[in-house]
Amino acid sequence: MATASLPARPTALLIICSLPVSVLLAQTEIKLPKNRYTPEEDVKLGREAAAEIREQYPIIKDERIAGYLTMLGDRLVAVAPADLNKKVFEYSFTPVNLKEINAFALPGGPMFVHRGMFTAAAAEGEVVGVMAHELAHVLLRHGTANASKAQNPWLQLGQIAGVVGGAMVGGTAGAAIAQGSNFGLGTLLLKYSREYEKQADLLGAQIMARAGYDPRALARMFETIEKESKSEGGSGPQWMSSHPNPGNRTVYINKEAEALTIATTADASQFASIKTAFADLPAPLTMAELAKRKTEPKGAAVQSVGTPGQPVPPPSAEYRTVSGGKVFQAAVPSNWSSLTSSNSVRIVPQNGYGQLNGETVFSHGIEFGLAQAGTRDLQGATNAWLKAIAESNPNLKLAGEQQPLRISQRSAIATPLLNSSPLGGQERLGLYTTFLADGTLFYYLTVVPEQDAAAFQDTFRRIGESIRLTDVR
Ligand SMILES: [Zn+2]
Repeated sequence: MATASLPARPTALLIICSLPVSVLLAQTEIKLPKNRYTPEEDVKLGREAAAEIREQYPIIKDERIAGYLTMLGDRLVAVAPADLNKKVFEYSFTPVNLKEINAFALPGGPMFVHRGMFTAAAAEGEVVGVMAHELAHVLLRHGTANASKAQNPWLQLGQIAGVVGGAMVGGTAGAAIAQGSNFGLGTLLLKYSREYEKQADLLGAQIMARAGYDPRALARMFETIEKESKSEGGSGPQWMSSHPNPGNRTVYINKEAEALTIATTADASQFASIKTAFADLPAPLTMAELAKRKTEPKGAAVQSVGTPGQPVPPPSAEYRTVSGGKVFQAAVPSNWSSLTSSNSVRIVPQNGYGQLNGETVFSHGIEFGLAQAGTRDLQGATNAWLKAIAESNPNLKLAGEQQPLRISQRSAIATPLLNSSPLGGQERLGLYTTFLADGTLFYYLTVVPEQDAAAFQDTFRRIGESIRLTDVR
């Protein structure tokens, strides 16, 4: 491109000189902290942790809300300082149906914003402010900068990823939540020092201004969060524990705002309608509720999702994808939890699985599993498996004829069953069987008490249709 059309230098100088004095205050320069990791390693860590979070958290799939959040995120990324905005970063902006006022970003770009943040925000700029603050943590690579400061020299990337993954899927979740952190992620990657907080505030303010938002909105949001965190049973402490107030937050953010030129005001007209869009979603979970329905550690003596016999909430219309190793993927209601054992995965609603009168009870949900088959004949293998489960369920009986169908385009058999429900009365079971390429029997079993059968029918059908067998054929 020719450069002849660029304005001559003196003109630009003239314009600067005619601006109000306050603009001449320089914006604060932010120094990138020392980091032993590469941006690629940030991305890998964040990607793995984000996958865990998408499995565990109630992700909001509503396209209006998700699309809106992505639009806001894109606005900010577009004006992020080029030297900090690494090409390898993989940004994503995901709304989650959680009640607490919180948001967090993982190394390399994945950002999650709680529904509670929208509820608490009085204007779009307040949500954008928190997002800009989180984006600043990503750009400044504060997570891995933190890890770089860790004393153990053997703390390598793989181990950190293990810590992240383990902390999130493991049983320490309850304890971590009690301390107000993000499933233990907080301790290493998401618990920022006051120095990093101030950096994120200032860089966040600068990015906001370039995107057309007044950074003072960020200060207002922090004030709301602080107020919430001090109130009895407030919903802000989680944020506060990972983003400590460096002190005088409002003062220095507002001071920075004075030094910044705010670009053409961003269009915030969608904010009001997006706020009402949340009303169409299921009620948000609290972190404590999420912890309760989370997967217990593998091999734990007792797994449970709530208390059997208590009311079971209806299946969510929102779905999330679960996978069972390299064998299958399926879409399940987002308000159901995964329980994994060595040869099966159960996906159950709240109060669908747990201890009742000293017995392990599975009253509602779906179980995916594998069984060794002594034959290559599907009917024979299915019947052998039925015989095996009948031994521990003496009242199990056929509730109709077995029917052919397809699971992930493979020949399968559906077997309707009736059993006595551990909750009293009858329960309806559906057994669906097919072969994996190596001759292993793949099955899924739907379980629901007779009186809830109609309410779960569509959900079970939808899960069944979503199953993709991914074993190598
Ligand atoms: Zn922060």
